[in-house]
Amino acid sequence: AAKEAGKDTYALYNPQSETKDGDRILLENDLRKSLERNELQLFYQPQVSLFPTRRIGAEALLRWNRGHAQWISPADFIPLAEETGLILPIGEWVIRTACEQGKRWIDAGYEPFIMAVNLSPRQFRQQNLVELVRDILRDTGYPPEYLELEITEGMTLDVESASEKMRQLRELGVQISIDDFGTGYSSLNYLKRLPISRLKVDRSFVRDIESDLGDRDIVKAIISMAHNLKITVIAEGVENEEQLSFLQENDCDEVQGYFFGRPVPADEFERGMDIQNVPRGGE
Ligand code: C2E
Ligand code: MG
Ligand code: MG
Ligand code: MG
Repeated sequence: AAKEAGKDTYALYNPQSETKDGDRILLENDLRKSLERNELQLFYQPQVSLFPTRRIGAEALLRWNRGHAQWISPADFIPLAEETGLILPIGEWVIRTACEQGKRWIDAGYEPFIMAVNLSPRQFRQQNLVELVRDILRDTGYPPEYLELEITEGMTLDVESASEKMRQLRELGVQISIDDFGTGYSSLNYLKRLPISRLKVDRSFVRDIESDLGDRDIVKAIISMAHNLKITVIAEGVENEEQLSFLQENDCDEVQGYFFGRPVPADEFERGMDIQNVPRGGE
């Protein structure tokens, strides 16, 4: 037994794993407290239609200010939140906060626009997701047709249960889109069995679109097949004029990316709306 214990002790003293586990536990503890400490914030990034060029939506993107002006990227804490289940309360906060903000903008007289919110796999599988979304819509008064839930291809692998859940969400009036499209395993063929309104072309296909013939062909194929299925296509990660022209020439419906605006806090996003879209309230 002593030998066994010794072995375990040795394993614990591996400096590399100790640091990693320690960091992880600290991060998890802090993440657990992030909600009550008001450290979470949503940033909003514009989504723009191409025909004509007009701001038609916003994607809400989560940011965590872990004290001491230390901003943590969602890529670095969403996986941990997902593993620990913390994504459920955090995800609920995200949907609620996005709807509250959207309602404030409508009440201020801005033209309503799509508010897109990311769902994680665990949230999508959550038993009471439909009730939760229904309650949030009721509590906030946000119009359901302007809420869009973004899911990824991996969450639709079980087509039967995914399409049933999506159907229930559509019954509430909300929209559903497929995020990061093209990176997963789904075929366009089975998309027609899912009640989807938008496909978001992953930005890895957009990045080298000026030079990479393969990416150009993939993007063209996604656009034309999506259109055959009456699904709108939005391209992610548009950073320059050349990418934009290619997408425009190939009938992509909408774009999102740094070229039109980075994700910014609500007040800054609102200043952008004032320029494009004069509030109706003030006349
Ligand atoms: P996503 O849903 O695909 O979001 C788009 C990501 O691309 C965002 O990164 C955005 O800032 C970034 N992006 C937008 N335009 C450009 C561009 O032109 N160039 C480049 N290089 N990047 C661009 P972000 O905010 O760091 O989020 C990363 C991922 O974290 C998201 O990818 C999403 O999967 C996840 N995430 C963010 N917020 C939430 C949330 O509230 N809940 C859940 N479950 N996941 C979230
Ligand atoms: Mg997204
Ligand atoms: Mg994406
Ligand atoms: Mg992503």
